Amino acid sequence: MTETRKSEALFERAVKVIPGGVNSPVRAYGSVGMNPRFIQGGDGAYVFDTDGNKYIDYIGSWGPMILGHNNKEVLDAVTRACQHGLSFGAATAIEVEMAEFICEHVKGMDMIRMVNSGTEAVMSAIRAARGYTRRNKIIKFAGCYHGHSDAMLVKAGSGVMTAGIPDSAGVPAGCTEDTMTAVYNDMDSVKAIFDQYPEQIAAVIVEPVAANMGIVLPEKNFLHELQALCKSQGTVFIMDEVITGFRMGFGGAAEYFDLDPDLRTYGKIIGAGMPVGAYGGKREIMEMVAPVGPVYQAGTLSGNPVAMAAGLTQLKILYNDPSIYDHMAETAEKLFEGMKELLNKYEKRYTLNYIASLGCMYFTENSVKNYEQAKTSDTKAFSEYFRYMINHGIHLGPSQFEAVFVSNAHNEVTTEQTLKVFEGWLEGRE
Ligand SMILES: *Cc1c(COP(=O)(O)O)cnc(C)c1O
Repeated sequence: MTETRKSEALFERAVKVIPGGVNSPVRAYGSVGMNPRFIQGGDGAYVFDTDGNKYIDYIGSWGPMILGHNNKEVLDAVTRACQHGLSFGAATAIEVEMAEFICEHVKGMDMIRMVNSGTEAVMSAIRAARGYTRRNKIIKFAGCYHGHSDAMLVKAGSGVMTAGIPDSAGVPAGCTEDTMTAVYNDMDSVKAIFDQYPEQIAAVIVEPVAANMGIVLPEKNFLHELQALCKSQGTVFIMDEVITGFRMGFGGAAEYFDLDPDLRTYGKIIGAGMPVGAYGGKREIMEMVAPVGPVYQAGTLSGNPVAMAAGLTQLKILYNDPSIYDHMAETAEKLFEGMKELLNKYEKRYTLNYIASLGCMYFTENSVKNYEQAKTSDTKAFSEYFRYMINHGIHLGPSQFEAVFVSNAHNEVTTEQTLKVFEGWLEGRE
């Protein structure tokens, strides 16, 4: 049995002074009937907890650690930046370099604004879209998560789904009355909203690969039809690339699926583990943002030089070595295909969705193409699976509705070890 005394002791202290003992609900282990393991450090594809247990990490800080933990180049860049001071609340050169680098290498990105989280990025992009169109209504998809701003906490996926809270307390009805919810992969559900509110939809926001209800892939043409509909209706098409950006390739899902969104939101990877988010896209929309335009959006620590040093260094590594994307896709394919083979061997008919370096196994025989189908998964069976995996050194997100994140530091060794543990679980070994 895994030793967890120190984590348990920390958790006991934590719950007294932090709600639920965690600073973000996705870190809680309540839904899998455990207490969290406290992480002491990481290296490459591994993390270590305070009790000295070593895990193959498939969380990767929910995406940012795409190069693995403790990447030397990123750490060196951060150290150098720190030596000049941590923050000035004034313009710095590295912010320009960051914006130039992204605008130069991401097709369709004319201008970009840095913020401090994915939540902020989405909230700001929505505001810019509303300011630009002078319309109020927005459409999101059930099961897609776009951060925890008031207007977005409607059928919002993972953390919210696991807790079984459809919406959040503390959000006035007025804040969500303009948020319409459509069904992922279902254009008719989108068209119905457009028909009901002609010329009132400011923006449609979508996760191009839904990564907060497990992993749900867009069906053929779904995103292209969505984009075309937005264009024909004068609606801003926003792709939330907080997870897919710089992961499905440097150009994210937009490049992967050959799309041209009006706005894109980033988070997670863009900061390499530091708190960074960004939104950007078409010049005429971004020029609505203050101080050029009338849409107010600000941030004391936005574009922080230390965070920029981390993020830009990671982005340069990713851009300069496209083989990283091939390596991650190959590693993920071996892992997920290996899991599928074992599922077949042990006659378990669970659904496994994956694309690029993201995947999710659902405890259901149904195919999963939207939120309702994702919810057919047996979350109790997931809990048992999760407990087995973590107690055998495999660190997964503690919820059925989280993705498995493969990084560039994962390799044949981690895949083989993971599949070995997976087979142990299928066999019902101790
Ligand atoms: C994580 C996430 C967000 C929110 O980002 P935070 O940095 O947690 O605020 C928004 N959109 C998507 C798709 C995400 O996965």
